Amino acid sequence: MALIKTSGIVLRTTKYGETSLIVTLLTRDFGKVSAIANGVRTKKSRLLAGLQLFAYSEIVMYKAKQKNGLYHLDEMNVLESFSGVRGALDKMAYATYFAEVANGALSEDSPDDEVLSLVLNTLYMVDRGLSDYEKIKTVFEWRLSAVLGYAPSVKICSGCQSKDVFGLALYDGTVFCEACAKDKQGSVARLSEGMCRIIEYITLAEGKKIFSFDANENTIKYLSQVSEAYISAQLDREFKTLDYLKKVRALG
Ligand SMILES: [Zn+2]
Repeated sequence: MALIKTSGIVLRTTKYGETSLIVTLLTRDFGKVSAIANGVRTKKSRLLAGLQLFAYSEIVMYKAKQKNGLYHLDEMNVLESFSGVRGALDKMAYATYFAEVANGALSEDSPDDEVLSLVLNTLYMVDRGLSDYEKIKTVFEWRLSAVLGYAPSVKICSGCQSKDVFGLALYDGTVFCEACAKDKQGSVARLSEGMCRIIEYITLAEGKKIFSFDANENTIKYLSQVSEAYISAQLDREFKTLDYLKKVRALG
């Protein structure tokens, strides 16, 4: 039984048996993995701080030979707890949605530094309240789409190569001009030139710079609706936490 060291974020926990938890982790070396934390729901466990939702820790785990193929958590040393996220209803609602999207978008055992950095940077922005939450959301959605290989190419019309871009087809990520739009079927989001530039910036900017652009509140709101529909269409998934996020947003 070899011990494995990595670092990772808790995306989700589920009760398992009488006393244990199954934890979905986004790790640096193994990508998304499922791990079991034995006996942590009854006694005072040294893993408890690390098991909090969104906590980012150094992790020691091992894979037992028998049965379910799950990793077993042995140690977690918290590097960043993101406690601010868990302390506010709106922050929690956004972060829970981001975790569900990341969880749904990624397959197990395929590590990707860029995805991990994106999730960490996004949680950091929410935790510290460094930007408008809708802006953080649309950046996360566009950037994750791009990292997964679904970046829309927003420069020219896919029908006639015109530079007057008018709409984005949510199901295949192509863009087109107003004339070519007449032949398009399915869900289409109208985009202004400025919005296309923002999407392009988010998909191409380096690391933390993805959040460094200006746009007015209405533009951000609209882009957030489009990116939400876009990533859902690209991944062919609905996200349950989005309903909760919408309720929380309606309160504020
Ligand atoms: Zn065209």
